[in-house]
Amino acid sequence: MSIAKNIEGIEYKINKACRQWKLNPEHVNLIAVSKKQPIERIKEALEDGHRLFGENIVQDAIQTWEKSGLKDRYKGVRLHLIGALQTNKVKDAVSLFDVIETVDRPKLVDALVKEIKQQNKQIECFVQVNTGEEPQKSGVVPSQLASLLEYAEDQGLKISGLMCIPPVNEPSGLHFAFLKKLAQIHKIENLSMGMSDDFEKSVPLGATHIRVGTSIFGERTST
Ligand SMILES: *Cc1c(COP(=O)(O)O)cnc(C)c1O
Repeated sequence: MSIAKNIEGIEYKINKACRQWKLNPEHVNLIAVSKKQPIERIKEALEDGHRLFGENIVQDAIQTWEKSGLKDRYKGVRLHLIGALQTNKVKDAVSLFDVIETVDRPKLVDALVKEIKQQNKQIECFVQVNTGEEPQKSGVVPSQLASLLEYAEDQGLKISGLMCIPPVNEPSGLHFAFLKKLAQIHKIENLSMGMSDDFEKSVPLGATHIRVGTSIFGERTST
């Protein structure tokens, strides 16, 4: 299967779910997760006209998108950071990414506010919610979400979305429905939820961004 065909297949499924649930497919953005994929595969997606990509490690993303010249060569590329962000990487992250989906603590809010001002750059920020309250996972626990959102607002950082990664051994639909509820309560418009295995469940629940890696590019190279 070619990468273009894979993307087409996923878009077909998005459209089908949207028709079934009377949703507008234009509100569902397909983020092609290019982490740990060979450049040739990413180029194939770019040549096919795809422009929305996700990466989880700042340094890897710099290699793949900046050092390689890909981001300059293909106009209109938008990059989402979908992995945990350390404060010492905020400068690089703000410089490369268009959307940071993993804001999860006040210290990170502070660092982002400072760096966004410094670089005078427009960036969108989502908050990652640890809906399963897993100790090893980043994201703010649901009980701390309200205070984090309030803090971000006080500091002048607009939060335009929520993101979650459900625990592997639980039905993801419950977590997607929960995240949607949290977004409604806090009047947040974007919902980043759903990956290769479960985006068909997240779309009916109102996902605005789905993050699909292996179903587009195939298995990731190790390391
Ligand atoms: C790797 C990753 C994905 C993509 O996962 P696939 O199963 O390859 O679709 C989505 N979201 C996050 C946060 C990831 O780290």
